[in-house]
Amino acid sequence: MASHDVVVVGGGISGLSLAWKAAQDGQRVLLLERSGRVGGSLHSERTADGYWFELGAHTTYNSYGAFLDIVVGAGVAGQVRERGPARSRMGLLTHGEYRWLTPPRVLLQLNWLEAARHLPLGLLSSKDGQTIYSRFSRLLGRGNYDRVLGPFLAAVPSQRADGFPLSGPGSLFKKRPRRKDFIRSFGFDGGLQVVAEAASRATGLTVETGVGVEAVARQGAGFSVTTSDGRTIAAPALALAVPSEVAVTLLRPQFGELASHLASIGTAVVDSLGVVLPRAKAWMPECAFLVPVDDLFFSCVTRDPFPDSGHRGFAFHFRPGLTRAERLGRVLEVLRVTEADLLHLAERRCSLPSPALGHGAIVAELDHHLAGGRLMLTGNYFDGLSIEDCVARSFAEWRRVGPAGA
Ligand SMILES: Cc1cc2nc3c(=O)[nH]c(=O)nc-3n(C[C@H](O)[C@H](O)[C@H](O)COP(=O)(O)OP(=O)(O)OC[C@H]3O[C@@H](n4cnc5c(N)ncnc54)[C@H](O)[C@@H]3O)c2cc1C
Repeated sequence: MASHDVVVVGGGISGLSLAWKAAQDGQRVLLLERSGRVGGSLHSERTADGYWFELGAHTTYNSYGAFLDIVVGAGVAGQVRERGPARSRMGLLTHGEYRWLTPPRVLLQLNWLEAARHLPLGLLSSKDGQTIYSRFSRLLGRGNYDRVLGPFLAAVPSQRADGFPLSGPGSLFKKRPRRKDFIRSFGFDGGLQVVAEAASRATGLTVETGVGVEAVARQGAGFSVTTSDGRTIAAPALALAVPSEVAVTLLRPQFGELASHLASIGTAVVDSLGVVLPRAKAWMPECAFLVPVDDLFFSCVTRDPFPDSGHRGFAFHFRPGLTRAERLGRVLEVLRVTEADLLHLAERRCSLPSPALGHGAIVAELDHHLAGGRLMLTGNYFDGLSIEDCVARSFAEWRRVGPAGA
């Protein structure tokens, strides 16, 4: 008899939230994570002297209801931390010139003459079947989109968001109810990774890090997985919570149709490089982030909303295809320091989905193939890439397959 009711592959927030929910329902859950830590893109980089900064996701909101269920249930609501005044300051870097802005002043960066020429017709045009680019360039003009809006929107998914669907699955814009008992936007003492770590300690959940899954197969009425340390582990239910291109590789041998639908979702590699400086060495005014126009990186996210008396932390998210020397060189240039000034340097590579028009149809096909089975697929390539989209998808998959859906 299998010693686990559910095996979950991948220990990012998607896998952890599914595992956590199943464990809450009294299931014996095994989660296998390839890297040495849980959290995936919830990656709070910690230094030897107790400082931390976000190398991946950085902000959560009181509209993240499913995520907040975990925060409360896993006992870390007390670690919620309000973002300080730097949260409402941002930088725009245009060909060597820095402008420090608050949200109303961002609007002043627009060419309002150009906007006035486009707004009347743009407002009348239908939102259906639009991409981010087609909608906003129609509303405000191409110049405004290219100079201001496009770079700010690219900072969200660390890639040009021009082709993302404006609405529906894959969209960056979601309206969700807000939980009034939490502040509007927040982080956590110790960083977002504390939520992942708390979820991983759920009763009934066994987490093995440093164990990759190399193959998945049907076994009787259930499934088996083959691990990087040579084990074959069987369970009646299986969840894949890995980036879509990894899921394609794992599914292709035995779940070919699912794999081929999944393979039609584009992905973009994000190379992140984070550094810590002594506070006295940092020239940049305190701000939440810096967005460049037409640069090697899409954004530089700071830890300034959670100020520290001795350190400043900066995470740069780069476009793919650059060498390490090019990335580091650009970081040092922007921060106006030398490598010897850095107290800490960390790097990570991940991939994020690049949904396009028609994404909703791909998701519908995937769900059609999954229906009635006990294989679960979750991740940031369904409804959207925010943490809340991931957790909501995981909870929905567990509702479909778990005791409530049986
Ligand atoms: C730079 C950046 C900033 C972001 N900022 C925000 C933000 O502020 N707010 C927000 O809501 N969202 C943000 N996001 C988006 C959000 O963080 C991600 O979409 C989400 O965390 C993805 O979670 P996931 O579990 O689906 O995937 P991942 O976090 O990628 O986790 C997948 C896990 O699977 C593991 N894995 C891969 N292959 C295998 C294998 N074969 N066997 C076992 N394990 C495997 C990986 O090691 C990884 O831990 C950001 C993303 C990035 C990259």
